[in-house]
Order: sequence, then structure tokens, then C-alpha cells
Amino acid sequence: MLGFIRSDLAQFTAYTPNPGGDSGKAIKSVDRVDANESPDDLPIELKEKLTWTYQQEIEANRYPDGSHQALKDAIAHYVTESASLETPVTSSQISVGNGSDELIRSLLITTCLRGEGSILVANPTFSMYGILAQTLGIPVVTVERSPDNFEINLDQAQRAIAQSEHPPIRVVFVVHPNSPTGNSLTASELKWLRSLPDHILVVIDEAYFEFSQTSVVKELAQHPNWAILRTFSKAFRLAAHRVGYCIAHPDLIAALEKMRLPYNLPSFSQAAALVALTHRDQLLAAIPPIIAERDKLLATLSEYPGLQVWSSSANFIYIRPRQLKQNSLSQIVQQMKAQGTVIRNTGGGLRITVGSPEENQRTLQRLYQTFEKDSHFGYS
Ligand SMILES: *Cc1c(COP(=O)(O)O)cnc(C)c1O
Repeated sequence: MLGFIRSDLAQFTAYTPNPGGDSGKAIKSVDRVDANESPDDLPIELKEKLTWTYQQEIEANRYPDGSHQALKDAIAHYVTESASLETPVTSSQISVGNGSDELIRSLLITTCLRGEGSILVANPTFSMYGILAQTLGIPVVTVERSPDNFEINLDQAQRAIAQSEHPPIRVVFVVHPNSPTGNSLTASELKWLRSLPDHILVVIDEAYFEFSQTSVVKELAQHPNWAILRTFSKAFRLAAHRVGYCIAHPDLIAALEKMRLPYNLPSFSQAAALVALTHRDQLLAAIPPIIAERDKLLATLSEYPGLQVWSSSANFIYIRPRQLKQNSLSQIVQQMKAQGTVIRNTGGGLRITVGSPEENQRTLQRLYQTFEKDSHFGYS
């Protein structure tokens, strides 16, 4: 209709954000286990600390610190410490974004725009790489994963890279461990990533690092073409504040810094991320119980003969009915929602976040209610 809007945008639909405009009260009465957030809010004493910071230290009339220096220093320290690195990561290797979503977009702009490159993803995986690439007119090449264990089809991936010319594949995106399927990169996948030439950027998204405790950060120094993405949205309980970061070679970081908006991160979000890092021992102490809850969920669901259940290195699980009839996944999601639990239908399966113990109990009860009506699950 409006003749000045890019013609290719007609085929896209806007991302429907969770919680989708309901009022806060209504949201609290349902179990939202569809976005892999932490079940726990920030402890009240840390919220009070942030309130104090807002009152005493943040001048609302002033622009935020556009250099993010204090936050970058704290992140560099955390990254170094959590990987016991002998050579510390420095702030010149860190860029922070308004969520790692912003960094994904900046990486795409920095590498592929102007028809210079396309990207490679192995589905099912985090959908934002493909969505953001498409909105920028960047071609997305997809390869498959094994239906049994979700390992990337490396032969296919290698062929795709060899054959891509117009434009060539410039970026490979992987998640470690993958969302929605929960599997970490295997030795052969890592070997393949190490073998990729320097003119291809390898983005390793470690959004779930604090749960998996697996990271490639130790190898970063040997691979100037690797970039690691992390976020404060999951284990650090700051999804509301939108803070993510990228760890990479200083030259790539310098390019990302050129590309971003000058004040991409509000003062309050920078303060929140700093508070979370300062109190990381307290916040991350919640992780072992979440992992124990995850394993309980997996053990219980594994008893359903009609259900395929995969192990997970993250704070969510991935399941699928063995007999997939048309619409059965969306019907399960609807029936769960009607009972008060919101789960995610993605990539040909169901992704369920590990919530609080009470939420997980309800998730199991409600799945049972849903499956009981269907003889295929063989649960009696
Ligand atoms: C949740 C998630 C993120 C986090 O994105 P933010 O924009 O930082 O909230 C990034 N990557 C993956 C794979 C995720 O699952």
C-alpha cells in the first residue's frame, strides 16, 4: 500500500512478543515455560540495590555511558574467571548489545550486507538468525540435523559452503547447547568448525553457558574468525533488561562498535547487568537445583512409551510424540495452554522450560492430562 516500503517486507510478519500485551496480573496466573527464562525473579535485596542506584547514581536527564566501559570490564573479568583462562579476556574483545538479538543483527550487517554474503544455519535452531537475516535481505542457507540426536549434517554443511557463490556463505551460526534441542556441540562438529577458513565467521551462541558449563572461549585466541555470544536473559534473570554480549577478536569488536547505535544500552540495564555480575555467586547458586529439576522432568517423561525425549545440557527439554499426526503438536500446546501452562511448539517438537518445582509438577500433571486422552502414549 505505502509505495515507499521495501517490497520484500510484505512477506514477513512481525514477531509476536511474549507476553503479547496481556496485563501483568493475568500473566502471573499462568506458567510461562516457553521462553527459557529463569523461574526466579531477581532477589528483592538486589532490586533494592538497583533502586538505590537509580535514585542516587543515574541521572535520568543524561545519556547513558555509550562506551559501556565498566560493564565490559566486569564481563571480561567474569569470562576470564569462569573459564580459568591464563590469558585474560580484555574489554577490547567485548561488545555489548540490547540483548544478544542486537548483536546478531550487528554481526549480520557487519559481514553480509550489500549482497556480500549469506549465512548457514542447521535447523532446528534458534530462529532469530534466519529472521534477522531475511529482514536485511541476506540469503539463509539451511542444512539438516540428524533426526535421532540433532547432530548437524556436516557433509551437507560442507557441500553448502563449497557450492555457495552468489553470495558466498560468510557466517555459520551454531548454538552451544542448541535451542530448541538441548544438545551441545559434539567433537566432530567442533572439529568441523575449527576447519572452516578464516574468511568465514563462526558464531557460537552460548546463551545457555551457565547451565551447560561448556564453552569454546578457551579456543577463541586460536580462531580470529570465531565469535561467542552470551546473554543476561537466561541464568542471570535479566530478560527484562535486554543485555547480551559478544566475545571476539578486537578487530571484529571494533567493527561491531562502528555499526551499533551510540546509546544502545540504557543506563538502568547497564546497572542491572553490573549488579548481576557482582552478585553472580548468589544468582548462579540457583542453577544446580534447576538442573536437578530438569533431570526429574526428563526421567518422568521418559516413562511415556509414546513420547520421544532427548537429554538436555540447558534449562529446557525437548520432546515429541512418536506418532506425529497432523496438528498434534499445536493441539498439545492448546490443551496445555487451556490448563494454564504455556509451552513452545518449534522445529517439529515441543520445547519446555524448566520452571520452579511447582511449575514443573503442574507441567507433568498437565502433560499427563493431555496424553491420557490419547491411547498412543501407552500411559496407564
Ligand atoms: C534466549 C536466547 C538468546 C538471548 O537473546 P537476548 O536477545 O539476549 O534475550 C540468544 N540466543 C539463543 C540461542 C537463545 O536461546
